[in-house]
Amino acid sequence: MLGGAVAVERAKLSGSEPLTVAMDGPSGTGKSSVSRRLATRLGARYLDTGAMYRVATLSVLRAGVDLADPAAIATAAKDLPLRIGTDPSRELVELDGVDVSVEIRGNEVTRAVSAVSAVPEVREQLVALQREIAAAAGRIVVEGRDIGTVVLPDADAKIYLTASAEARADRRNQQNIAEGRGDDYEAVLADVQRRDTLDSTRAVSPLRPAAAAVPVDTSELTMDQVIDELYRVVAQQVSAGGAL
Ligand code: C5P
Repeated sequence: MLGGAVAVERAKLSGSEPLTVAMDGPSGTGKSSVSRRLATRLGARYLDTGAMYRVATLSVLRAGVDLADPAAIATAAKDLPLRIGTDPSRELVELDGVDVSVEIRGNEVTRAVSAVSAVPEVREQLVALQREIAAAAGRIVVEGRDIGTVVLPDADAKIYLTASAEARADRRNQQNIAEGRGDDYEAVLADVQRRDTLDSTRAVSPLRPAAAAVPVDTSELTMDQVIDELYRVVAQQVSAGGAL
């Protein structure tokens, strides 16, 4: 049945079959940019789940809630009026019908997001929405921290993107400079390490690789090299899993 298996693999990769790719890893690995590009190459939709936790955080901050009070966070984030797009070439993130794509990347939200994303009720609400969006899309690259472990444990391909804390801090700092948010490598490195610790030690859905996830280290690779490697890994996982 080798011919049949190859045909299924081709169909999955070329855009005529449902295909789910779970892309997990810590912040600053270039995950969002490469996930978008991989989605485009696969003819798939793209979902940035980090943006969803950021919108929840913005809503909680606007409500003026004490970030040390999980019950108050859960109440403030309930029935979140969130709209998120899945077009890999166009970002769409709205809270209450208003574009918040810039505001959710600001320092205030970035500092508070770990506290909000650690609240079980917030996760339950957003995970349910992520599953709905993925099911409706059919072909999709979903990017986050717990996609392969919790959100889509049956994904066709699972990847765990990594990079050294220094490489990640450097990338984020360059991005801050480019977007006019200042140049402070040491502060960015401290924030990367702080968020890694919080995200990997929290009780609910801690950041860790899914059992079947293939690790890809982006520290020394260019963007093009990362995309080629990811495409190769997806093809390999699809042919190993889906076709037989
Ligand atoms: O990917 P990004 O840095 O925008 O994610 C922001 C935060 O959202 C993370 O630091 C993490 O606390 C949370 N997050 C999460 N689960 C996901 C995606 C993001 O807890 N699937």
